[in-house]
Amino acid sequence: MKTLKSSLIILASGGLLFLGACGGDKTSDTNTTPPPPPAASQPASSASATTSAATGAKGGQVVNSGAYHLEFVPEKESTGTHLDLYLQKGEKKEPVADAKVTAQVQLPNGKQQTLALKYDPEGKHYAVVFPGKEPGQYPVKVNADIKGEKVDGRFTFTQ
Ligand SMILES: [Zn+2]
Repeated sequence: MKTLKSSLIILASGGLLFLGACGGDKTSDTNTTPPPPPAASQPASSASATTSAATGAKGGQVVNSGAYHLEFVPEKESTGTHLDLYLQKGEKKEPVADAKVTAQVQLPNGKQQTLALKYDPEGKHYAVVFPGKEPGQYPVKVNADIKGEKVDGRFTFTQ
């Protein structure tokens, strides 16, 4: 009993010592060596407005808008391109099931096509099949209306 108690005390004081040493280190560190910013890689990923920089949990393109997290996952199919949109809220990334989601697809001929995405409760995402087959780059603007709260994100897919 006695030995257990004293070892606990040693542990506790050790922790305090560690914390103290850590804080001391930090202050002296900033005085002597200013941290050099990694300038080489940062501007490319954060400065531009393109959405292709981040890859989400599903391997898609990610846009964060306010509390919302949009992830766009295009998948080629024989009849066109299957478009998946994961709409999630907050840090816990809870799926939002009751939004009105549309995708405005810019066609290679300059025209626009608007598609309504349907919620798939099993996959916890919104989905639609884009029926076009013409190869090219297709910019997409996804609009989500979550009980009047509007969120959008820009993505692209190729086919
Ligand atoms: Zn799907």
